[in-house]
Amino acid sequence: MDFALTEEQKILRDNARRFLEKEITPHVQAEESKGPMDRAMAGVFIKKLVDFGFVGGPFPAERGGSGLDEQSYGVMTEELWRVWPALGVMVLVYPAPASAAFASGNEALARRIAAPILKGEKIGCGAITEPNVGSNPREVQTTAVRNGDHYLVNGTKVWITNGSVADFVMCVCKVKGEPGLSQLIIEKEVSPFRTRELDKLGLKASPTSELCFENCRVPAENLVVPGKGLKQTLQSFERARSMLAIGAVGISQTCLEAALTYAGERQQWGKPLAGHQTIQHMIAEMDTLTDAARFIAYRAFYAMDQGKRATRETSMAKYYCCESAVKVASLGLQIHGAYGLSKEFPLERCFRDARTLTIPDGTSEIQKLIVARERLGVSAF
Ligand SMILES: Cc1cc2nc3c(=O)[nH]c(=O)nc-3n(C[C@H](O)[C@H](O)[C@H](O)COP(=O)(O)OP(=O)(O)OC[C@H]3O[C@@H](n4cnc5c(N)ncnc54)[C@H](O)[C@@H]3O)c2cc1C
Repeated sequence: MDFALTEEQKILRDNARRFLEKEITPHVQAEESKGPMDRAMAGVFIKKLVDFGFVGGPFPAERGGSGLDEQSYGVMTEELWRVWPALGVMVLVYPAPASAAFASGNEALARRIAAPILKGEKIGCGAITEPNVGSNPREVQTTAVRNGDHYLVNGTKVWITNGSVADFVMCVCKVKGEPGLSQLIIEKEVSPFRTRELDKLGLKASPTSELCFENCRVPAENLVVPGKGLKQTLQSFERARSMLAIGAVGISQTCLEAALTYAGERQQWGKPLAGHQTIQHMIAEMDTLTDAARFIAYRAFYAMDQGKRATRETSMAKYYCCESAVKVASLGLQIHGAYGLSKEFPLERCFRDARTLTIPDGTSEIQKLIVARERLGVSAF
């Protein structure tokens, strides 16, 4: 396996970095302090990223995307998360209804749902988690019952990224009469539902919401992959996990860069912090963890780019990269002393953002159970 970036990937990375530092970095601090973005602000940032080619990156060109391989899109994703993890997580889940519409094989639905998402005109989200359903998506309780040419949807979803700003929801639910779980696309304008914002530790600017469906009337043609919703959802986790993994590397990279600068500038005991042995140990640990995380994420992309299932590689990457980002952010914060706790420096935000990432798309414990299952052939759940 050769993980060296190709010339094209280096150009992609450098262009992405220039674009993000000009168009996104100046807004991060102010937007983070305001909390979850509203629909208008989310639309502005998503549109900027769409125009640059971020959102459509992994979708095939004939579907309106750029047809990038996983590693190339991963390289861009690291750059986005290096600058603003909250926007990174929004972009990650934003096309979920488009993927569902493509999977349905229904071209009219794909045109209606996916096309405006990929153009940045509409925002999407993926809703699986419920108040009583977390790590085990098989237990989803939200129901959809056919009533003439509609389904009536009842249930509550929680911790849904983009939930309050989404125009389209990819909702995992039990459809009466279908085996297992299904995916249903709910269009807010056509099928209104209530939302409530949930406050959380990190990724402050990204909305994380509760969605309440009470006899929500959804057109029957919006049912996609009937009875195969779980399989489809589990497959999409592999991509999401690899992208969260490289996102965590982006956070580690920011912490490392900040620590290198600070250790070079801050003088204590008559010399820069960088000249003290303990600080050098911390820098070496941050550097090693960040490089190791990047390689494990690249290995997951490599496995996915071979067109095979990459369950073990993506779970390992999600677990390792997110946990190591917490350590890297903590070390970076320590090197900054009291200034590490201040909002004037990126460390306190990176620490909160990194800590938040060990939970979504499968906690670290669940990732370890998956890795062990793939090795042992014995499932603990
Ligand atoms: C920032 C953020 C964004 C999110 N975005 C979305 C989204 O867009 N869409 C969506 O559907 N959901 C989303 N979620 C929800 C997320 O996927 C769930 O929080 C996650 O799957 C864990 O579920 P839970 O929080 O209910 O924890 P639980 O499943 O209740 O787990 C609680 C604890 O028990 C442990 N545990 C659970 N089962 C086992 C087991 N079998 N063995 C050992 N330990 C176990 C867990 O590791 C954890 O430590 C998001 C969450 C966060 C924090």
